[in-house]
Amino acid sequence: MNNYFSHDSNARNSDKIIPLRAKHNAEGYGVYFMILERLREENDYSSVKDYNMLAFDLRVSSGLIKSVVEDFGLFSFTEDGERFYSEGFRKRMFFKDQKSERLRDSAQKKWKSREEENSSKRSERLANARKKGTHTAEEWGEMIDFFRCCLICGKSTDEVVIVKDHIEPIYQGGSDGIENLQPLCKSCNSRKGPDNTDHRIKYCTENACEMPAKCEKTPAKTPAKCLQEKERKEKERKECAAQRASGENFNFSQMRTDPDAQTLLAETITAWNKIPHVVKCDALHTPEFIQLEFFQRLHEHGADKIRLAVAKMADAYWWKSGSTTKASFQTFVNAEKFQKLIDGIYDKDFGKTPKDKNADKRSRFGNPEDAKKGAFG
Ligand SMILES: [Zn+2]
Repeated sequence: MNNYFSHDSNARNSDKIIPLRAKHNAEGYGVYFMILERLREENDYSSVKDYNMLAFDLRVSSGLIKSVVEDFGLFSFTEDGERFYSEGFRKRMFFKDQKSERLRDSAQKKWKSREEENSSKRSERLANARKKGTHTAEEWGEMIDFFRCCLICGKSTDEVVIVKDHIEPIYQGGSDGIENLQPLCKSCNSRKGPDNTDHRIKYCTENACEMPAKCEKTPAKTPAKCLQEKERKEKERKECAAQRASGENFNFSQMRTDPDAQTLLAETITAWNKIPHVVKCDALHTPEFIQLEFFQRLHEHGADKIRLAVAKMADAYWWKSGSTTKASFQTFVNAEKFQKLIDGIYDKDFGKTPKDKNADKRSRFGNPEDAKKGAFG
């Protein structure tokens, strides 16, 4: 608290104090300062002239109190003679009070103007963002329904509070339209800093689903990578459809309506979601494309092998090794990967960056650049 008062380090040698010390020694000096401390605690820095009361409080004789107060010109008395105070002490204290009031006022003014400035900046930015695009509450609700999780940590909407994240922050000129929003949990949002990654693209890639059309940025703004990704997915989808058409003894629609197969799919996804380092997926909303792959694996290997593969996945080295890559369920049901998993050689291919994989491809098929130059074939 702010209950101090200033004390001149040379006070003991002042004109009025030397006679006090000469008569009452250090005890008189001590009593003098104890009286000042009491004055400090009073609102108007004055005290009732009740020497007995003071003597009782300070555990000294009332004669000593009377002498200290009256004999050395250290204190003055009010006109009615009922109270006494120290003029010098009062002046110092009043000056200090004014000063701290001034400081307080100016601090409050500064704080207020900063607050006003911040809030006007915020509303100005939001107004600018809204000029570029707006969204409705329904659109935002649809987006949450679609992703159903924080797009960074993957925690579901049941586990965390989801907030709107502006992919391109509005202070960097981002719009307030739905195409610039993504659901993040509070903690991921506050940690993300100036990063403006569109985590929706990654989610859609890993879960093999299409981003809802209105969430897409205008084609001119869509990164080339995203388009490539879309083309690749489309190709895979067509291949799968062809496989489905030619599949011997495999009836996808039969599997889809087979309660046992459906139960196994749900059971597998539940087990999958318990593995720490995987992209979580939704049993109710697994895309048909992935269901198809799953049922094909089930058809080829049987339920026990599916369960074995999940167990091996949970035990895979690559995520235990601290890899930040997450395995998606789509990858899991991929024929080649699934076989490797069962054979116990899954780890070999994992943890490799796309760069490594490209290097592998080049070593196997030759460098496409060389091919262009005619060095290939
Ligand atoms: Zn999160």
